[in-house]
Amino acid sequence: MPDTATVVENVIDLEREFLLQNYSRYPLVLHKGKGAWVYDINGRRYLDLISGIGVNALGHAHPRIVRAIREQAALMIHSSNLYYNEFQGPLAKRLCGITGLDRAFFCNSGTEAMELAIKMMHSHGCKAGAGKTEIISLENSFHGRTIGSLSITGQAKYRGPFEPLMPGVRFVPQNDIAALEQAVGPQTAGIVLEWIQGEGGVYPIDPAFAARAKDLSAKHDALLVFDEIQCGVGRTGRHFAYQLADPPIKPDITVTAKPLAAGIPLGAVIANERAASTIAPGMHGTTYGGGPLACRVALEFLDILEELLPAIHRLGGEMRAELTEMAHAHGFIREVRGFGLMIGIELDIPGKQIVLDAMEAGLLINCTHEKVIRLLPPYIINEREVDRALNTLGRVFRNVSIA
Ligand code: PLP
Repeated sequence: MPDTATVVENVIDLEREFLLQNYSRYPLVLHKGKGAWVYDINGRRYLDLISGIGVNALGHAHPRIVRAIREQAALMIHSSNLYYNEFQGPLAKRLCGITGLDRAFFCNSGTEAMELAIKMMHSHGCKAGAGKTEIISLENSFHGRTIGSLSITGQAKYRGPFEPLMPGVRFVPQNDIAALEQAVGPQTAGIVLEWIQGEGGVYPIDPAFAARAKDLSAKHDALLVFDEIQCGVGRTGRHFAYQLADPPIKPDITVTAKPLAAGIPLGAVIANERAASTIAPGMHGTTYGGGPLACRVALEFLDILEELLPAIHRLGGEMRAELTEMAHAHGFIREVRGFGLMIGIELDIPGKQIVLDAMEAGLLINCTHEKVIRLLPPYIINEREVDRALNTLGRVFRNVSIA
C-alpha cells in the first residue's frame, strides 16, 4: 500500500498532467465527509464552512439522503425524458407551491437553468414583435459559464477571452434605480437579477430596486428573472431570498440549482404561466435533467429543509453579530453582510492568505472577488460547530492583525 503522501502526490501529478488546467485548487485531497466535517486523505478533519460552494446544504452523508440515494439507485437512476418518472411531477408541484409560480423545468446545473431563462426571455420578446430583444442584467453579477449565461454576467474578468458573446445585453449598476429606469424600455425582453450577488462578493439587492424592476418589467411587458442559484432553497432562512422582502416581490421566473438535490446535480427553472408559455414542445430539452434519482433526493431534501429554516435564520444572525464584533476589533475588516447562512466578510486586504491560514487551522472557507471572505455553511451546522468556526476565524484574524 502506498503511503498517503504518495497518494496525494499522485493525485496532484495526474491532474497536472492530464486535466484541463482551468482550476487553481487548494492543496487538499478530500476523501470523505460526515455532517459539517470533511476529512482529507490523511484523515485530518476540517469544519466545512463553504459546503461545496453552497451545494452540500445538509453537510455530508446525511442519513436520509444516503437512504434515498441507495433506494432509488437500486430501482432506477436515469429514465430519460422520453418517459414519465414518479418524482418529476411531485417535485415540480412542491416548487410551484413554495414559489407561487406555475410550472417547473429540471436540468443539471445552474448555468444550464439560466440558459432556459434566457431562451424564455428571447422567446417572449420574439412573440411580442420586432425589436424586443434586449436583456437587462446587473454589473458585478454572475450567472454561469456557458455562452448565454456568460453573456449576461456583468464581470469583464469572466467575459474577456470569449468575446464576442450574445448581443443585446445591457448592464446597470446594482441598486441604481435611475440607471435601471433609463435602461428599461419597450425593447426590453427581460430583466435578470441575483437577490444577493454571491460570487460578486455577497451584495444583497435593495428591495426598492427589485420593486422598481418589477414595475418596469410589468410596464414594458418584460420578464423578471431572479437568479437564486446561490441564495435560494433555504440559504437565507427563507425558501427563496426574494421572499425576504415585505411584501415579497414575485418574479416571472426563479432559477435555482446548487443545494436542490443535496449534492446530486439538479437545476430548476420555475416560471409563471406567462413565462412558461414561451416554450412549446420541441423548443427545449435535456437528456439527464429531472431524472428519478435527482428528483427523489430533492423531494427528500425539501422535506428536511422545512425543519431547518428557523435555525438557518437564527444561527446566521448569531454568526453575523459575532463577526461584526470582530470587524470592530480588526481594522482590515471593512464590512460583514448577508442573510441567513450566506455571509460575506469584506476586507481591505486580499483574502487568500486568510483562507489558507484557516485551512491550516482546520476550517474551510472561501474568498471571492479577491477581498470578500464568503461563508456558506451547511444548514445542519450546530451551535457548537458555529462557536468553533468563529473561534478559529477569530484566531486567524488576530494573527493577521499582529503580523
Ligand atoms: N448563478 C449564480 C448566482 C451562481 O452563484 C452560479 C454558480 O456559482 C451560477 C449561476 C452557475 O451555476 P453552475 O456552476 O451550477 O453552472
